[in-house]
Formats: sequence, structure tokens, C-alpha cells
Amino acid sequence: HEMAALNNTSVVVYAAKDLRLVNREMPVPGPNEVLLKMHSVGICGSDVHYWQHGRIGDFVLQEPMVLGHEAAGTVCAVGASVTHLVPGDRVAIEPGVPRENDEFCKNGRYNLSPSIFFCATPPDHGSLCRYYTHSASFCYKLPDNVSYEEGALVEPLSVGIHACRRAGVSLGSYVFICGAGPIGLVCLLVAKGMGAAKVVITDLSSERLAKARELGADFVLLSGAGSEAEASLGGPQDMARRVAECLGGTPPDISIECTGAEACVQASIYATRSGGVLVLVGMGPKLMTLPILNAAVREVDIRGVFRYCNTWPMAIAMLASRHVDVQPLVTHRFPLSSALEAFENVKIPRLLKSGPADVKG
Ligand code: NAD
Ligand code: ZN
Repeated sequence: HEMAALNNTSVVVYAAKDLRLVNREMPVPGPNEVLLKMHSVGICGSDVHYWQHGRIGDFVLQEPMVLGHEAAGTVCAVGASVTHLVPGDRVAIEPGVPRENDEFCKNGRYNLSPSIFFCATPPDHGSLCRYYTHSASFCYKLPDNVSYEEGALVEPLSVGIHACRRAGVSLGSYVFICGAGPIGLVCLLVAKGMGAAKVVITDLSSERLAKARELGADFVLLSGAGSEAEASLGGPQDMARRVAECLGGTPPDISIECTGAEACVQASIYATRSGGVLVLVGMGPKLMTLPILNAAVREVDIRGVFRYCNTWPMAIAMLASRHVDVQPLVTHRFPLSSALEAFENVKIPRLLKSGPADVKG
């Protein structure tokens, strides 16, 4: 009997550099929860970071934690109070679930609620496992024409939606995106989807820029900011000048910073047109030296971005209507039994980090 209960294969980080595939107990859904058989789970940069360092900033691993927060699966049981889902439903999972109905929750910005539950953020377990329970209200039905993989990619896509909403991207916007990692690329997809007329994107890697082109970037720029190539490619002000040049001499209305690198935040301030908006998505050092007076006297609004809120319905609708295509973000697939190998693979920086690992039952 006890053996049968321990059949929930899970990817667990025990400490920095200590990742294991372990059999955990089969979870039981509470009254407002559903039990899910997981299907596709993406590996995020943060999963890799917890594995490599055992912490991200103030979030420190105290006990072993299941990784994974980009996920989709099938409902296999529902709690007594759940009415909108039934066994067999295919769902995408929103990993952040507010724990109390505080002021942030009441005004719709529940991502800012300090007590929020979030998959694979200590001490909360993630969803890279065979069976997982989650709040039913944060599981969204997938239409037949949206795959599980796409369902898992709703999570990173949501970061792009929230960033573009915070930045005010709309029809005709000129947008500058710093960084062509998975997050820069979802910002690109969403900005184009929201009607941006021109998007310029930068990265240190020409391979990543090639991917950005494939996904619809109008202009790509190789960056040297903060790197050894800086001498030949120029510093932040040079980057700002090159961005405006791409746009025919007009600076971008909006900049979306997706690297967290100090030199890139500097370049993003310089690059943004007076009266424009810069959103900070990338997470870098706690303190940075920035041309803040330049931002002040040119009325450049600098806005933070923390995950997302109210994005799943819109993201699923965008995917169902084929308005946005996230499939090119998937580079590799692994069965759950090879999850450790999948993590070794994403560690290689030239690969995209969002390739969902197929969790096969
Ligand atoms: P990533 O590391 O895969 O991508 C970052 C990209 O930036 C890389 O391609 C790198 O080559 C490029 N880069 C680094 N320095 C550069 C420079 N000087 N000039 C140009 N490009 C440069 O990471 P990711 O998964 O795409 O995430 C991007 C950032 O967003 C990370 O800092 C991550 O922590 C953050 N993030 C924030 C949120 C949020 O809620 N705000 C959510 C998810 C990720
Ligand atoms: Zn993530």
C-alpha cells in the first residue's frame, strides 16, 4: 500500500548543484483544488538558477523543493467545491495563487500580494512532477486547437503580455527590446501581436538574434554593452543612437529591458524617446548606476514588472486565434524520466531555456 502511494515522480532541488528525480507522495486535492496529471512543463531560467545556486536574491532554499512553473496537464480529479472543471479537461496552470484577499488582490494586481503562493519559489513546490494539485480557479481550459506545449508556454508569454501592457504597447508603437532570451522573445511576440509597427531587439549573441528575426523582429542589433566587445560595438549611448538609426532616426516610444544588465538599463534609458516608457523586466544587481537625471528631465517613465496578473485568458485566446505562435520557442523535448538530462542541456547558454520537458505518464 505504502509503495503505491509513492509513485509521484518529481524533479526536486535539494541544495545548490543537487537535483534529484524522486518519488514523492501522491497529492490529494482540497475542496477548491484539482488533481492534475502533468503533461508539458517548461524549464525556466529561475529553475536552473535554484539548481545552480540554491537561491534567487532573498528567496533561499531551506528545504527540498519541486521545480517547475510553466505547466499544462489534464484534470484527473476535482475537489468537492469545484464546478467549472471535470476530469479529462486539458488546462494551462497559472502558478501564482494569492493566499488572501488583500488590497492588491481586490484591485486586481494580485501578483503584488506579498503572501502569494508561487510554484517553485521557496517554500512553495512547483509542478515538474507526474501528479500535482492546484487551485482550480488558476487552471484554465485549453481549447482543442491549443496544445499542452502551448499551454505550458502561456506562463512565459504572460510575462510578455504584462510587460507590454505596463509599457502601453499599441498600434503603431516603436519598441526597443533589450535581450533576446526567452523573455525578450515573448515580449517581441506580444509587442508585434499588439500592433507594434517596428521592433528593434539587441543581444550579445548573434544566434539569439537570428531566432528573434525568425520570430518577427524588424531590426536586430548586436550589443557590446558591458562585454569585452564593448570597445568595438560602443557603450550605452552608442546603443541608443543605433536603435534610433534603425527606426529611421526616431527613438522608440517604449523600451522593454529583458537582461537585467546595468549597461542595458542605461542604454534603455538613453534610447527611450522623451515622454516614453521604459519597463524593467530583467532582474540584475540590487543597486545600479543609472543616468536617472536624463530620464527625469526627458520625462521617461520607468516602470517595474513583476510576473503578471490577469493574463491567462488573453494568452489562451491569442494562441487559439493563431494571433501569436510560440511553437518556435520549443527547442528540445525530454520525458520526465530524463529530466536531469534536460536540465544539463538548458545549462548550455546558447540553447533557449523554455523548451518544455514533455512529462509522459
Ligand atoms: P536569459 O539569460 O536567457 O536571456 C537574457 C539575454 O540577455 C541573453 O540572451 C543575453 O545574451 C542577453 N544579454 C545579456 N547581457 C546583454 C547585453 N549587455 N546586451 C544585450 N544583451 C545582453 O534570460 P531570460 O529567461 O530571457 O530572462 C531575462 C531576464 O528577465 C532575467 O533577468 C530574468 O530574471 C528576468 N525575468 C523577470 C521576470 C519578471 O517578472 N520581471 C520574469 C521572468 C524573467
Ligand atoms: Zn519563469
